[in-house]
Amino acid sequence: MNNFASGDDSEGGSDAEVALVEYDRQPSDAKARRVRMLRLTVGFTIFAVVIALAVVRVISDEYPYAFGLGAVLLVQFVVIAIRVRRMSGPVLTDPEAESRISPILSELCAAAQCAVPRVSIRRTTVPAGIIVRSKQPVLLISPDFLAATDDASLRAILAHEVAHLSAGDISIAKRRSQFAVLGTELAGVVVWIVLGQKTGVALLLWVLYFIPCIQLYLRFTGSQVRRRETHADMAGAAALGDPDAMIRGLEIVYGLTDLTRESLYGGSGWKWMSFPWSLQPRTHPPLAQRIARLRLTTTT
Ligand SMILES: [Zn+2]
Repeated sequence: MNNFASGDDSEGGSDAEVALVEYDRQPSDAKARRVRMLRLTVGFTIFAVVIALAVVRVISDEYPYAFGLGAVLLVQFVVIAIRVRRMSGPVLTDPEAESRISPILSELCAAAQCAVPRVSIRRTTVPAGIIVRSKQPVLLISPDFLAATDDASLRAILAHEVAHLSAGDISIAKRRSQFAVLGTELAGVVVWIVLGQKTGVALLLWVLYFIPCIQLYLRFTGSQVRRRETHADMAGAAALGDPDAMIRGLEIVYGLTDLTRESLYGGSGWKWMSFPWSLQPRTHPPLAQRIARLRLTTTT
């Protein structure tokens, strides 16, 4: 039926399946670039205005600690966002990489009976992962990750991502971020009431602490996400029958993530300047734990 060693009995040959994988292309028109620049400029202007207003409140001695801390957190956030942007590369068109990814991805999705996600090959802060764009899942893959993997470990990491898709983890993640936003909005109402309904003060504090509050929420509700990660490791390794390839793939992912974190936050001597943003995220279990669980499957 098809050319894949572990393929199912789906109709059509491998050529038809390969054609199902769509790739992002760099927008060639100047209009798309202008829109992106405009969006970026508006975003940074809003941040600059909020920071300036907070500094004014500190100078006028109105809740100086709350506004001072909020301003520092936001300045740190903007610096990190600029570094993230500098690190990110353009969308790449790489026929060789596409010919490696397409057959593996379409085969895995056919076996898991889920829709094939769009693929974007570009350097971001994640070596490989699923994001949601315009309600559609997009698989982000960094060229550094592609260069570091052999086909078996690439297949393993793609199997991990497909396991997320078929388990419905994308909608779980979406609900989680909706809760985070809702919780932060409720916190804003509490601030508004506690401060005796001084709307200007409460509103500015709310805008200032919006992103830190969401980060805080996500940090303390990571256990469910970590369980989903372990499940995706196991399901991916089981689908391939190759836990060693999954271990190799994870080692590459964690190695690249460590390098990214170092260029974002500086070495250990400088990390404190980005605290608390530089804290290790708790959305993924430690590498040693993931490897130990996978090794267990080879011995049982
Ligand atoms: Zn994952």
